[in-house]
Amino acid sequence: MKLKSRLLTAFLIMTALPIFLITIAVGTIARYQANSIEQTYDVKSDTIKLISNPLQILSRLTRGVYNEIVITAIQSPEKFEDETYIEYLNNELKGKYSYLVLRKGDKYIYNGDKENLDNIKSYFPKYGEYTTDMEGGIYIDSKNPFLLKQQDFHFTDKTEGSIFVVTDVNTLVPQIKSSAIQMACSLVFVVILTAGVLIIWIYRSILRPLNTLHAATDAMKEGNLDYSIEGDPEDEIGQLCVDFEEMRIRLKELIEVRHKYEEETKELISNISHDLKTPITAIKGYAEGIIDGVADTAEKRTKYIKTIYTKANDMSVLVDELSFYSKIDFNAMPYTFTSINLHDYFSDCIDELTLDLEVKNIEIVYNNETDAGLKVSADAEQLKRVINNIIGNSVKYIGNRKGLIKIQIEDMNEYVKISIKDNGQGIPSKDLPFIFDRFYRADASRNSTKGGTGLGLAIAKKIIQDHTGTIWADSEEGKGTTIHFTLKKCKEGTDHEQNINY
Ligand code: ATP
Ligand code: MG
Repeated sequence: MKLKSRLLTAFLIMTALPIFLITIAVGTIARYQANSIEQTYDVKSDTIKLISNPLQILSRLTRGVYNEIVITAIQSPEKFEDETYIEYLNNELKGKYSYLVLRKGDKYIYNGDKENLDNIKSYFPKYGEYTTDMEGGIYIDSKNPFLLKQQDFHFTDKTEGSIFVVTDVNTLVPQIKSSAIQMACSLVFVVILTAGVLIIWIYRSILRPLNTLHAATDAMKEGNLDYSIEGDPEDEIGQLCVDFEEMRIRLKELIEVRHKYEEETKELISNISHDLKTPITAIKGYAEGIIDGVADTAEKRTKYIKTIYTKANDMSVLVDELSFYSKIDFNAMPYTFTSINLHDYFSDCIDELTLDLEVKNIEIVYNNETDAGLKVSADAEQLKRVINNIIGNSVKYIGNRKGLIKIQIEDMNEYVKISIKDNGQGIPSKDLPFIFDRFYRADASRNSTKGGTGLGLAIAKKIIQDHTGTIWADSEEGKGTTIHFTLKKCKEGTDHEQNINY
């Protein structure tokens, strides 16, 4: 999940979950307390009303007794002069946090709660001031708040009398108190629970991948490039882990390439020194022969000097090839890509080669299956170098048999394939995968008198790769070798010339 959606969800959970849980908690507590109130005080009402309006409960508590007082006041007010009846009413009220007060004229002749009356009696309404609207009682917010119900009547001697039911608000119904505490506790619990759930969720989704990333960077700092991590690409931090992993793999590859390059450079230097040492030793030997007078005849001296010349020539070829190879290997060779007509180009090529090859008793067969107007994008001069290197090898390794070189050109959608086949000695299968490596020469070639540096095919491969083509070889020992390479066709209508400095 994306971090944005995660935060939005967290926000929704943070607001909605507590509301939902608190509603459930309050509902349950309210219902439980309402039942309890109903059982204890015999008061039935809507649960929320009961909890939210405790005065109503207090009022209802005394409703039964008060109703009896009202009926008695209408039907037989003389009963209020009977002390046992008053005592009986007061006792009924006692269990309901209430007591009875009786006033005759201005005098209070009965007080159910001896201690409190003096503090509150000044708030009692006068005879006739308590209206029927106040049926539920009146709330008096004095120092000792109380709920008051009053019923007026006349004593038998016609004195105005009032009977009061006083309910002490200070001793709020304990259930209401505990309800408030329970609700506050449930609120705190819900908030802690929601926060806890969110913290765990956020920890898992943010901190855990960050810790993984931290461990991975530490490992990388210490040079361990094999420490792999995984991430969920669906969220931003997960994506960061995936990117980090890609970076690690890339870095590892770069370091491996660098190591390989360093190894190759070492090998290159040792190959060069070896290849230069052989002709230099020969030159030194023959020169010493002349100086020391070993070559004592004119004929011998001519032979020695010719050999020195040939070896110096070999060295010059080697140095030329090396410098050319290092140029293309470092991509310092500028290519001039032009649109070349394949038919014209190869016809010229074959004409040039036929003359040379006839002398060496090699027949050349050319078969071009592509359309006459087909053009490829290539550097004509470098392409010639590739062809010469391949045909040069065929000539070199054809042996004493009657040579045959076949050049075949085929159309392959975006590319054309050029195959140069010979009937020479072939390449052993153990050497075949390496013939395009620089300085690689099969044992047979190395041991033969035929010169060579082992750079010819490496150069051809690099040139073809720079032309976005591929090059490969098929060979059967004793039967012959075929070198194939591809060249990209020119898109129709483009007759371009471009210099690309690789
Ligand atoms: P250079 O071309 O630098 O003078 P080279 O011919 O030995 O030297 P490459 O052209 O790179 O080097 O060829 C590499 C090796 O592949 C050769 O030494 C030879 O063993 C083998 N090889 C290449 N072409 C042929 C072929 N047509 N027939 C047999 N062996 C071949
Ligand atoms: Mg060669």
